[in-house]
Amino acid sequence: MGFDVDRFEEEVNEGLLCAICHDVLEDAVQAPCEHAFCSACIQAWLLEDNSCPVDRQILLASELRQLHRYMRNDLNNLQIRCQYWQHGCREKVPLETLHQHESACPSEPMRCPACRADTSRGEMARHLQICTLRTSAVVPAADVARLLEDMRSELEAARQDFMTKLAEQKLEMDLRLDAQRRHLVQREHCLQEQLEEMRRLYARLSEDIKKLIQQEKTSRTELQRMAQEKAELLQMLHQASRSQAVQKLPEKVTDL
Ligand SMILES: [Zn+2]
Ligand SMILES: [Zn+2]
Ligand SMILES: [Zn+2]
Ligand SMILES: [Zn+2]
Repeated sequence: MGFDVDRFEEEVNEGLLCAICHDVLEDAVQAPCEHAFCSACIQAWLLEDNSCPVDRQILLASELRQLHRYMRNDLNNLQIRCQYWQHGCREKVPLETLHQHESACPSEPMRCPACRADTSRGEMARHLQICTLRTSAVVPAADVARLLEDMRSELEAARQDFMTKLAEQKLEMDLRLDAQRRHLVQREHCLQEQLEEMRRLYARLSEDIKKLIQQEKTSRTELQRMAQEKAELLQMLHQASRSQAVQKLPEKVTDL
């Protein structure tokens, strides 16, 4: 979901901002079109869409890569404020080591496991010394150690719970991506079939047209032949009637 730009002192280069949440890239990934996003932002986007949100080029989750090395270096070297700033931490660390710092930051708010009073990681040991639920004025070091141990296992349980949920979510996301991929393959198959059908139709049509042209040619030749015959017949008829007229002449004379 990105790091708030307010947590950085220097101006952050626009290329290091997520194109979706507009915060500074968190777990940055890059598309083949060079646009960069927080991993979580683009994964969520790709569940609903299969294109880059900036330029609409087709984009699949499997095409996402890590940032170019020079961008990665710039990103890692940005100085960011600890998230426990409001709780008094004044640390600014390179983004690369933020997680390391925050997971041990003395200003992280914590709750006393005995009296549930609010305190911080750094104050916890001192609080346990004076905690009202620890009636004895001085808490034996062994107790402090045990309490810290309890807290640690509580944290570990919470962490494992979180990891399980994360794995479940990832599985669900993978399944949805898979379904989407299958859907696309099916659609492509369908289109291929339609294309094939159109090709067949086209072949049949051009076959028909060829036949029609052939037929037309044949009937034209036929017509020409008939016209020729007609002309010859007329000629013969003409000649015949002329010679008959000549033969009939003497008869007509004797008739008179
Ligand atoms: Zn983002
Ligand atoms: Zn793009
Ligand atoms: Zn801190
Ligand atoms: Zn307490």
